[in-house]
Amino acid sequence: MLAFVVRCYCTASGEVAGVRVRFAPSPTGFLHLGGLRTALYNFIFARKHKGSFILRLEDTDQSRLVPGTGESIEDMLDWAGIAPDESPRRGGPVGPYQQSQRIALYHRATEKLLKSGSAYYCFCTPQRLELLKKEAQRSRQTPRYDNRCRQLTAQQTEEKLEQKLPHVVRFRLEQGVEPFQDLIYGCNRHEVAAVEGDPVIMKADGFPTYHLACVVDDHEMRVSHVLRGAEWLISTSKHLLLYKALGWKPPQFAHLPLLLNKDGGKLSKRQGGVLLEGFAESGYLPEALLDFITNCGSGFTENRMGRVLEELVLEFDISRITTHSALLDLQKLSEFNRIHLSRQIESESLRPKLVRELQAEVEKVYGEQLLDSEVLATGYIERVLLLRKGHINSLKDLLSPSYSYVWVRPSVPREQLCAISAEADAIALLVMGLLEPKSMFLTTEVLNGELRALQSQMKGTEYSSVMKLLRLALSGLQHGPSVAEMMVLLGPQESCQRIKNAVSS
Ligand code: GLU
Repeated sequence: MLAFVVRCYCTASGEVAGVRVRFAPSPTGFLHLGGLRTALYNFIFARKHKGSFILRLEDTDQSRLVPGTGESIEDMLDWAGIAPDESPRRGGPVGPYQQSQRIALYHRATEKLLKSGSAYYCFCTPQRLELLKKEAQRSRQTPRYDNRCRQLTAQQTEEKLEQKLPHVVRFRLEQGVEPFQDLIYGCNRHEVAAVEGDPVIMKADGFPTYHLACVVDDHEMRVSHVLRGAEWLISTSKHLLLYKALGWKPPQFAHLPLLLNKDGGKLSKRQGGVLLEGFAESGYLPEALLDFITNCGSGFTENRMGRVLEELVLEFDISRITTHSALLDLQKLSEFNRIHLSRQIESESLRPKLVRELQAEVEKVYGEQLLDSEVLATGYIERVLLLRKGHINSLKDLLSPSYSYVWVRPSVPREQLCAISAEADAIALLVMGLLEPKSMFLTTEVLNGELRALQSQMKGTEYSSVMKLLRLALSGLQHGPSVAEMMVLLGPQESCQRIKNAVSS
């Protein structure tokens, strides 16, 4: 049955025709991983079927708006590389893309429903509704509106409207909901009238509720497929009743299983680190985040790490989305970032962007401390990246104190070297002699061999102490990458200079 429904939408070539999907967040908070995942699946679905991806801001609940979040959501979609084709900022053929600017459309739909008798004015006071709620609670029932204003005659309604009594408009829920085929959850049906009172569709402040606005917009924006979180599955029957009452053809629905933390609990903003802005600031790559949030769930022909967006589009198959919740293990994110960072460092075309970012960060963090601007030279930064790829999870790692030697010369007191070995001067001379010939090709393998060979010329100092002494002279650190790696990274000249400085300080 499910396969049949999917096929219905396909052309002879297997292509799903005229695909228009939307991501419809409320600007009541910043974009988090759950929202990003919903947006991403919509983006992938649109690209897969050569359709359009729309961003619509659902800002009709004026009391919950958080200023700046709408802008920020669109910024973050751009940052993530899944920019919408139509949106509040970009505009498009069916705009505006912000519900608060589409109020007239909702009023028109409400009028139509009122005229056909599918909706009615309700004048119940907040006090009465509160009383209903309390009574339900007392008798351990789920609170629901008792549909009292359905009973008002046309004349009574007219009189109350004339008296300008505050009112809302409610949608008359009909019995006998028809089942629908969800592309992920299969056959579904919620007999809403049996469990809910008639829902408000137009509030007293003249703004519509989510249910009406969403149905009107999906219709007006010619949305073909609604891909949204599974928490909306139980609302879909209500939406289908609205489509029916308005005489409109509904879109196809695909509800995405929930995204939970690895213990199966709700991903909460309070746990920290789920907001996209935070990830961006911490140096996570958008590619890593997209890979990460699709890797923990289903919908792809195989499960593997390291996929980029084009591969996600290529390998996506909606029929492979299961109804199992996606469990997110945030601790694995660094590994995803390391993989994507390495890939970008290796890529001739992507590396320059990383170089520019690192240059800017180094300048910001070390600024005045930089001895000379040579460490900001593209060639040097590229070498640092190529040598440290695979070891670093993020560019930010290179700004931590353990990498400060890469950017600023350490000052190492001579006594510290002498405390490691009485032969400090002799060792320094030998190593400088090794590094001085400009012709020497510096690789860690060659250097490791040469350093070992020097050992025979040292009488009383163990190899490990020689390394300790050199590491200290080069970086001011007791621990860190191997001495040979440090020398390759700094280059022979700078390495010599640092050893000379340390012994003569
Ligand atoms: N505004 C709703 C939300 O923020 C959208 C639900 C839907 O996609 O229909 O989750």
